[in-house]
Amino acid sequence: MSQSSLWEVRSSPSQTDSTKIILVTGGSGLVGKAIEHVVSTGECREEEKWVFVTSKEADLSNADAVKKLFDKVKPTHVIHLAAMVGGLFRNMKYNLDFLRKNISINDNVLQTSYEHGVQKVVSCLSTCIFPDKTTYPIDETMVHNGPPHDSNFGYSHAKRLIDVQNKAYAQQHGCMYTSVIPTNVFGPHDNFNIDNGHVLPGLMHKVYLAKTQGTEFTVWGTGSPRRQFIYSRDLARLFIWALREYDEIDPIILSVGEEDEATIKEAAEMVVEGMDYSGEIKYDTSKADGQFKKTASNAKLMKYLPNFQFTPFKQAVKETCDWFTRNYDMARK
Ligand code: NAP
Ligand code: GDP
Repeated sequence: MSQSSLWEVRSSPSQTDSTKIILVTGGSGLVGKAIEHVVSTGECREEEKWVFVTSKEADLSNADAVKKLFDKVKPTHVIHLAAMVGGLFRNMKYNLDFLRKNISINDNVLQTSYEHGVQKVVSCLSTCIFPDKTTYPIDETMVHNGPPHDSNFGYSHAKRLIDVQNKAYAQQHGCMYTSVIPTNVFGPHDNFNIDNGHVLPGLMHKVYLAKTQGTEFTVWGTGSPRRQFIYSRDLARLFIWALREYDEIDPIILSVGEEDEATIKEAAEMVVEGMDYSGEIKYDTSKADGQFKKTASNAKLMKYLPNFQFTPFKQAVKETCDWFTRNYDMARK
């Protein structure tokens, strides 16, 4: 794919007045690349033009840059993914930056969408923004029911404000701005940086180094916390559905079922298998476990899409391990 900071996918060369111009912010990230993969391998409809952008095209925390971007692209629809993102350990270090950066990016994108008459915006929240003290399973009604976990309160409050803004834009201006709530995402094009990234890409990178350099493979924490993992390409298909079909302002959780929740230990064992590694797995219990679990219900999603098929976890981990091994030199790390 092109190295340009703005690129398009369309199935029809001609653009008419009824063409939907779908701007995807965060187009170079894990989720953005997965959406690009899905639309460029058969999902792009005749009437759609998809435009993917990165921070090189516009720093979305800069209001003028966002206005210029919207003047240039003239989107009718927006999938808003761009954010300062990181795993547990990056969040613990930079709560203030996560809060300020993400508040400004989100405010600029939503307000500029309003000023440009964008018909629909789908933004991205996360299950890690739910209250720390809660009952399980978590559902969509519980986003604001108490303080988030202390490790990522900056990111969480910034994300929660998207939902507040969506309601306010609907109430004051009648806008159709909504959001989706994915669980832990992984897949090709993830951030495989060991210190800053999420658990699965971090573990894949550590196993890669253990295999190629003989270093120890160490899982951080006790391995007992529980997570629901969603493959980025499954999430991409759900995002595209949400853009086309989901017309509630209230968010919707995009997740595998509660029965598919895995411990970090089980996830590490899956990575070991996916990377074909035969060495020992060590645990560094001096490192934080973070939130013990954030088990989310996908009942609302299943009502809309009862036949949606998720890629089996083992297959998705294997595909991601293979992608990382093949693309080690160019992967983000
Ligand atoms: P990612 O791989 O880290 O990608 C982040 C994207 O945001 C990149 O395209 C980056 O552009 C862009 N970006 C960051 N700061 C920007 C700025 N100031 N201006 C313009 N663009 C900027 O993240 P991801 O995992 O795909 O996350 C996408 C969305 O899903 C985020 O909203 C995130 O909160 C949400 N989410 C992620 C997870 C997860 O497990 N990864 C879970 C739940 C929700 P450059 O490449 O140019 O820097
Ligand atoms: P979270 O789901 O928002 O907490 O974010 P992460 O994807 O960073 O997952 C954190 C969980 O994985 C915690 O229980 C960590 O202790 C555990 N973990 C184990 N090894 C690693 C690793 O190498 N990187 C990260 N980020 N987390 C790890």
